[in-house]
Amino acid sequence: MPSSIPISGCRTTKIYCRPGCPPGRRTKPENRVYFSSEAEAKAMGYRACKVCRPDVPRSETFLLSEYQSPVGPYLLAGSRWGVVGIKSGSRSQRYIERWKKEAISLKFDPDANGELKQQLDAYFTGELHRFTLPLDLRGTPFQRMVWDVLNTIPWGKAMSYGQVANDLGRPKAARAVGRAVGTNPVAIVVPCHRVLGSDHSLTGYGGGLDIKTALLRLEKIAYKK
Ligand SMILES: [Zn+2]
Repeated sequence: MPSSIPISGCRTTKIYCRPGCPPGRRTKPENRVYFSSEAEAKAMGYRACKVCRPDVPRSETFLLSEYQSPVGPYLLAGSRWGVVGIKSGSRSQRYIERWKKEAISLKFDPDANGELKQQLDAYFTGELHRFTLPLDLRGTPFQRMVWDVLNTIPWGKAMSYGQVANDLGRPKAARAVGRAVGTNPVAIVVPCHRVLGSDHSLTGYGGGLDIKTALLRLEKIAYKK
């Protein structure tokens, strides 16, 4: 398993999993712990999960497809465990290069990620307020904790970087939180667009501020230019 894929564990079962493992996903948020490597998990007394076998190296394939949204084209990527990437046009190439470096096989299939496309369609028409797809989020332990907080922000609501930092129990880490928000691999579904400055200013957005304002308007979230 490439060291760039962090793993998560459950404090009560002392079992660690690959990202996106179905039993691993059922771990209660308060019991979840992230490790940057298997060695770290083992040193803490955790055992490898028998379902996802993080201790067995395995080649991986991501299925890629394009999605034309009202705010522009997106590249969608799915692993066997869930959604790994939703990147707007300009940023997708960088992710493709990164995955190639991680020796992940990439297969373009126009029909792939069909359920995700359906849910995105429903999101853009305003019918869907909560995505219900398994996610396979890959990042450092800190990034994954930040993305977990983003996933708690409901449709139509915004949070400031400082509030996200407070929720993490790291009130002084607003700047690091900002960086982790900016590296969210799964746009829209992990709602990084719902993070605003403490005065409701737009601050930044990986996909560009035009997309951010379009998503905020769709969800009727007030913002300051
Ligand atoms: Zn597992």
